[in-house]
Amino acid sequence: MEITHIEHIGIAVKSIEEQLPYYEGVLGLKCYNVETVEDQKVKTAFFKIGQTKIELLEPTSEESTIAKFIEKRGEGIHHIAYATKDVNEALKEVESKGVRLIDQQARGGAEGLSIAFLHPKSTGSVLTELCEHPE
Ligand code: ZN
Repeated sequence: MEITHIEHIGIAVKSIEEQLPYYEGVLGLKCYNVETVEDQKVKTAFFKIGQTKIELLEPTSEESTIAKFIEKRGEGIHHIAYATKDVNEALKEVESKGVRLIDQQARGGAEGLSIAFLHPKSTGSVLTELCEHPE
């Protein structure tokens, strides 16, 4: 697998709006996209730094995995996402190396990316996402 860069860092927040004064006012970043991902019950807000993004994740339901994460561990860094050329190929490769997968196959994520998660049990407790940009 070839990882080209860190695509984004996902940060779990209770409220995107409450965090804007920090990301925009203090860090001087610009939120360029807000998007709700229905099947993950999450609202996302994106900021770009070079090729890498910060993705704020706000739960839209108590059933959301983000809501459960915040309940258990509080707000903070939720996952790291690596960009790679072919997520399905990468999944096959990491699985052959004994890594446990959350997603057996790439699925649609925010911003039209194909994404898949690796299980934190196999990644030193860091929830890890692989993503592929549509060509
Ligand atoms: Zn992500």
